[in-house]
Amino acid sequence: MLVDNYGRPVTNLRISVTKRCNLACPFCHREGDNRQTDSEMTPSEIQSIVSIAASLGIDKIKLTGGEPLLRDDIVEIVHLIHTVPSIKDIGITTNGIHLQELAKSLKSSGLNRVNVSLSSLRRETYVTICGVDALDSVLLGISEAARVGLKPVKLNMVVLKGINDDQILEMLEFSKKEDLVLQLIEVEADRSDSEYYRTFHTGFSSIETMLEAKARKVDVRDMQHRRRFHLRDGAKLRLSVPCITQSSVQTAIA
Ligand code: SF4
Repeated sequence: MLVDNYGRPVTNLRISVTKRCNLACPFCHREGDNRQTDSEMTPSEIQSIVSIAASLGIDKIKLTGGEPLLRDDIVEIVHLIHTVPSIKDIGITTNGIHLQELAKSLKSSGLNRVNVSLSSLRRETYVTICGVDALDSVLLGISEAARVGLKPVKLNMVVLKGINDDQILEMLEFSKKEDLVLQLIEVEADRSDSEYYRTFHTGFSSIETMLEAKARKVDVRDMQHRRRFHLRDGAKLRLSVPCITQSSVQTAIA
C-alpha cells in the first residue's frame, strides 16, 4: 500500500494523458499547449501504469490534461483502465468542448464522473477568460454528461477578481437547477508572486461567510481539506485552491 507523509493511504491517481489544449486560460497549470507531440503515452502504456498502481492500492483514477478529450483514443483509454481489476472509479477533467459528442461512449466505456471547467455562464466573460467562444458547446456537453448518467458532474469555476467574482450566485443557481456540484477555485500565487496573481486573486473569506449563512451543513471530506457546503436550497458547493497563475498569458485577460 502507498501512504503519504502523514501515514494516510493513497488511493487516487491523476494521469495527464496529453499536454494539448484548445483553450488558453491564463490561470492554467501550464499544460495548455496546442502543439502536437509524439510523447503522449499510448492506451496500453496507461493501462500498464494503472495496473501497477492498482497493485499498490490505487482504486480511483482521474484523467486530466491539457484537454483529455482532444485524444482520439480517449474512449479506448477509459475502457482499458476500466478492465483493470480493483479500479472502482474513473473520472475525467475536461473543458467540455467535445463532451457532447463523447459523453455517451465514455460512460459506456466505464467513466463514472466528470469535472467541467466553466468559469462563467456569460459569453463575454467566458471569452475573456478562455480566449475562445465555446460556451454553447460546453453547456451542451454538461447537459449530455448528466443525461447519460455521469455522476457527479462538477463545475470548476476559477474565481477572478473583477472578472467573474460577481457571478458565483448565478453559477450556484445553474448548478442547483442542473443537479451539478459547483467547485470554486482560488487562484494561487506562483513562486514569482506574479502581477496576474496580484491583479486577479480574490480571497474566499467573504465568500465563505456568505455560504456559511446559506448552508445547512459544512464538512471537509478529502485529503486536500476542501470545504463542502450543503446549502439549504439543495445546491452543493466546494472550495479549493489548486490553481496556479501563469503570468506569460496574462494579457489574454488584462
Ligand atoms: S486550464 Fe484547462 S482548459 Fe484552460 S488552457 Fe489549461 S488545460 Fe486548457
